[in-house]
Amino acid sequence: MFVKIDSEVVKLLCCSSCKGSIDIAENGACCRACGLRFPFVKVDVGHGMSDRVLDFRVFVPLGNNRHGLWNKVQLLYESFHIESMKEDSLQEYLAEIESAREIYKEYTLAGRVLDVGGHQGRLRYFLGGDVNLYISVDPFINVFENIGEKKNLLTAYPCLKEPCNFISCYGECLPFKSGSFDWVHIRSVLDHVADPSLVLREARRVICKGGKLLVGLAIMDRYRPEFVSFSGRAVNIVKYLVKGLLRRDIDDHATRFTHQQLLELAAMTGWRVIKQYWQKPPFAHCIHACWETAESCALSNGGK
Ligand SMILES: [Zn+2]
Repeated sequence: MFVKIDSEVVKLLCCSSCKGSIDIAENGACCRACGLRFPFVKVDVGHGMSDRVLDFRVFVPLGNNRHGLWNKVQLLYESFHIESMKEDSLQEYLAEIESAREIYKEYTLAGRVLDVGGHQGRLRYFLGGDVNLYISVDPFINVFENIGEKKNLLTAYPCLKEPCNFISCYGECLPFKSGSFDWVHIRSVLDHVADPSLVLREARRVICKGGKLLVGLAIMDRYRPEFVSFSGRAVNIVKYLVKGLLRRDIDDHATRFTHQQLLELAAMTGWRVIKQYWQKPPFAHCIHACWETAESCALSNGGK
């Protein structure tokens, strides 16, 4: 079993749409207030085994509307994930771990942690005993598909062998009661979502008083030669060319941010920046910032 929903998680759940109370039955959840239904969806996790994922994603119409366009980018992202899972490269997993290690030396998450866009819950690798509840939420409902057969992934991330509290939902519509979490973690996600301001509004709602938000993001105006090592630039150029040869659509991001835009978004959604940490090269364009809820309504672009 790779996916679970602990009883402690069930206590925090609500309707992802109207935030009303829900009932959970054998085949899914149902909102007592608005009547929306959220099914359990079977996911094959490999070796003939399957897990059930509770699907809190609210229906999204396809086509050339805003949601449909987002969906195209999301499918591209999911196809990149599927390709990398096929390779199951131990070297790439270990490089991923090494690149993230410095972030969690700077920030120690504790208490109840919600990982928005948390994928398979790889963040658990970096969490210590101060964390007493971890939940990953992601719209990518099949993210655990065949995970049991990915030997190198499970070797690099032993934490993935432990079942993960996982719910499928959109960051814009979280199925959790207000004030449920001590930390919300949104790393490399704000540039993938359809509406970053709604995601930050929801994060603000589900965080408890005194809680913290850790935002990690690639910043476009820092993506300049002086911030990126020569080898980092060479690797990026080769990746770009190879991907370009294979397909036309190479960018699986829905949005790109400058540093100023991120600060403005924080202020607009009621967050105060309390610390900013820029990663070391070759990821010197990535910021990891700790935010807390602003006490007053005065606009602030602090932490510059
Ligand atoms: Zn409802």
